[in-house]
Amino acid sequence: MTVISNHLPTAELQALDAAHHMHPFTTNNELAERGARVITSGKGVYLRDSEGNEILDAMAGLWCVNLGYGREELVKVAARQMQELPFYNTFFNTTHTPAIALAAELAKLAPEGLNHVFFAGSGSESNDTNLRMVRVYWAEKGQPEKSHIISRKNAYHGSSVGSGSLGGMAYMHAQGGLPIPGIHHIGQPDWWAEGGDQTPEEFGLARAQELEAKILELGADKVAAFIAEPIQGAGGVIIPPSTYWPEIQRICDKYNVLIIADEVICGFGRTGNWFGSTTMGIKPHIMTIAKGLSSGYMPIGGSIVCDEIAEVINAIEFNHGYTYSGHPVCAAVALENLRIMQDENVLDHVNNVAGPALNAALTQLGDHPLVGGVNVKGMMASLPLTPNKATRAKFAMDAGTVGFMCRERCFANNLVMRHVGDRMIISPPLTITADEVEIFHKRAKTALDETYKALKDGDML
Ligand code: PMP
Repeated sequence: MTVISNHLPTAELQALDAAHHMHPFTTNNELAERGARVITSGKGVYLRDSEGNEILDAMAGLWCVNLGYGREELVKVAARQMQELPFYNTFFNTTHTPAIALAAELAKLAPEGLNHVFFAGSGSESNDTNLRMVRVYWAEKGQPEKSHIISRKNAYHGSSVGSGSLGGMAYMHAQGGLPIPGIHHIGQPDWWAEGGDQTPEEFGLARAQELEAKILELGADKVAAFIAEPIQGAGGVIIPPSTYWPEIQRICDKYNVLIIADEVICGFGRTGNWFGSTTMGIKPHIMTIAKGLSSGYMPIGGSIVCDEIAEVINAIEFNHGYTYSGHPVCAAVALENLRIMQDENVLDHVNNVAGPALNAALTQLGDHPLVGGVNVKGMMASLPLTPNKATRAKFAMDAGTVGFMCRERCFANNLVMRHVGDRMIISPPLTITADEVEIFHKRAKTALDETYKALKDGDML
């Protein structure tokens, strides 16, 4: 077998990558022309690439490397578990200590009444579990027609057929026959982009009331659940106005509609609490988890399920599960990740050090002529770019053109910020220090200045 390692020249690695590797959410032919950036290692908040650049990762990978790169404790636990028991399933009347311990720990950390965990390998798989579980729950309660699920436009819940249908990404629905029947999407609480002249509070209330209108249209006896991220992540870090979630909660309570809180990004400290539901005051029946559960070191997800639903599901055989549900190595690493978070008081660090530092840095960036606002909650944030701060106007070019320019300027300055349309997204490791936030700030400012200059020079503003 040919040995392909980091010692090969970058161009050779890029050529092999282009020849055989199909990247997710990528126009592969365009990437092949540019050549993918080859990431070789990581330490703390920094990534290293094949050209020796040290890149500050203000996205924590894909919102997941919450403890940062290179944590030896996680490596050791994985190695130990691989030696002891690399795999065994939990299907056939068997269990193992990593799954037992992780489920028990999650029940301890989760809000009151959420005491049961169904494991999966990812966020997408977990939302597929939820889709089936809420339908089975109502069917077992004698209401099989209570099966419709309401979600939001521009929500992200995963990429499988089920979870991609639950999500509300129009560009995903445009491919492959999504969404499947029985899933409905109402407007999102994105005041910045869609609020017009309304106050954020008025707009938040109006968007929440779309849920009531949709439930009444379908009939409350037909609606199984409402699914939402406490704060939309991939949609652009959209923090709902303060009026939104209390009204959603009131409506779901009134019509007996279950709430699935998708905590895949918000969970495990990102918003300053263990779960975004706590931060936003939501009482979910099911929480979807993944990403930060293991700091991304191992692929693992799950559904944390309330007593009421578990009682019904546990009384039957739920014909659902994944080979890697509760995978022992993934579970052991996740458990160690949760231990470190508690022993190192990562939540205190977020609330007293990293969060305030990030908030201050972003507030300063908010003064930049391209930045139209600052959305930040704990360690997730977005900066919408605009040609006109006062009117929150869109650029004349296609949506995403300026965001992409800025992302490329970030990369050139050894900073990873992602763009969603023309919004810059920030979600660094939770362990980032105040000094590192300062480095983030300097690089982000340079990238914004360079983007601004390029737009001015090109007569695009
Ligand atoms: N839900 C949310 C809120 C997410 O952000 C994501 C991934 N970005 C998912 C679900 C899907 O998770 P995965 O990619 O692990 O399938």
